[in-house]
Amino acid sequence: MHRPLRVAIIGAGPAGVYTADSLQKADIDFDVSIDLFDRYPAPFGLIRYGVAPDHPRIKGIITALHRVMDRGDIRFIGNVEYGTDIHLEELRTFYDVVVFATGAIKDARLNIPGVEAENSFGASEFVSWYDGHPDVDRHWDLSAREIAVIGNGNVALDVARVLAKPASQMLETEIPDNVYAGLKASQATDIHVFGRRGPAQVKFTPLELRELKSAEDVDIILYEDDFEFDEASEKAAAEVNQVRNMVNTLTNWLLEQDDNPEGTGASRRLHLHFLEAPEEILTDQGKVAGLRMQRMELDGTGNVQGTGEMKMYPVQAVYRAIGYFGSAVPDIQFDEERGTIRNAEGRVLGADGKPVQGLYTSGWIKRGPVGLIGHTKGDALETIGHIIEDAEHLYTAEQPDEQAILDLLDQRGVEYSDWNGWQELDNYEMSLGELETQSGPVERERVKVVDRDEQIRISRAKARQAAHS
Ligand code: NAP
Repeated sequence: MHRPLRVAIIGAGPAGVYTADSLQKADIDFDVSIDLFDRYPAPFGLIRYGVAPDHPRIKGIITALHRVMDRGDIRFIGNVEYGTDIHLEELRTFYDVVVFATGAIKDARLNIPGVEAENSFGASEFVSWYDGHPDVDRHWDLSAREIAVIGNGNVALDVARVLAKPASQMLETEIPDNVYAGLKASQATDIHVFGRRGPAQVKFTPLELRELKSAEDVDIILYEDDFEFDEASEKAAAEVNQVRNMVNTLTNWLLEQDDNPEGTGASRRLHLHFLEAPEEILTDQGKVAGLRMQRMELDGTGNVQGTGEMKMYPVQAVYRAIGYFGSAVPDIQFDEERGTIRNAEGRVLGADGKPVQGLYTSGWIKRGPVGLIGHTKGDALETIGHIIEDAEHLYTAEQPDEQAILDLLDQRGVEYSDWNGWQELDNYEMSLGELETQSGPVERERVKVVDRDEQIRISRAKARQAAHS
């Protein structure tokens, strides 16, 4: 073909960046020209708006993603929302291939009475708040003294750790000022994390579990009765390194606690409960007032069944960390059960169940919200493998010129941003951190700009100046 294959990727999170990177680096005999769109002026999706700011590995991932984009062979077009600023029909005229990598940001639904009560929060909303997501209300009610976190995945651990850690320990991260002020004013004394299965069935990963111990002035409390192992648990602990590792860590913590039953007298306690499933959120005048849990027992296969025994926990807030769920993407077939785009190994399927030419998907919106960030790379490879296989039939764009899409956005008055714009915003946030470091006792790497209009203003300042000169 005499021209490059034009590819639009919707979503500049890890899935979008890895897909673009893998396609650029693939051993192929045709050229590609890739535009990476995001609805926000800042790229990186859940890395910026979903990972806990005190997570030690986050910096390495951001550096790697930056390196990919700094190469200059992937064009970033930020602040453009698919389905609002640009529609599928239009994208099809500019691009031969459209890849949806829109991720999963909603909370999975917990169907128990009381779930709609005030102070019953989806974990993803809270994560968005502490990560400075521009679309989330900046006020957060942290008046609860006793808090329940439901779920035994890494998100539950993130939420519990952020709720338990002293705000001063969070200040050195990139949290926005209002988040620091909110956490500092928190009344929390006891955070209860509930898993419906046993210690051998947790979905946490070892590093993330051990990270709990990094929280200062927090006692971790475990309960001996919760350490139940059935045949399947013992088999898993014997055969799977990760399960053995988790069970050993938790059991050691329980033993340490036996040596020191009073704890250290820390200001906050983080309780890890197992074999308790949520039955009902109790309310008082519409607000969370307690949580009714059912005792579960292992059934021999690593699954659980109810015992009928109930226990009430007096809590004033509930955080539901039972997994994420994808949002439907306009004009694309969506699997409402799984929260994913209907697809076969990354080829988007139409209403007839057959692949739609030129449409692909990658990341959590393709396979569901499971796996660590690294797993997204394998996923991207599978999707681009199919793009490469299909390539010769894909050259269908009527306006493949790289300028055409920008002209349309300009005509529409869409204030899109580019990679230079992101670098401006990135530098600005780091300079705010430096300023704070000079004036205060705590070194702050960056201070995030939350307000979307302000992000746009900073990202587009140079482009505006250039247009006027
Ligand atoms: P997850 O790993 O799927 O964990 C969900 C948890 O919720 C499980 O313990 C599950 O229990 C429980 N659950 C589900 N439905 C429930 C119900 N109705 N009642 C009570 N409990 C229920 O999901 P996640 O924590 O949202 O994490 C999503 C992905 O992101 C994971 O792959 C995770 O590792 C990754 N992540 C990684 C990090 C990191 O720091 N590395 C941070 C955040 C997220 P069952 O097992 O019994 O179903």
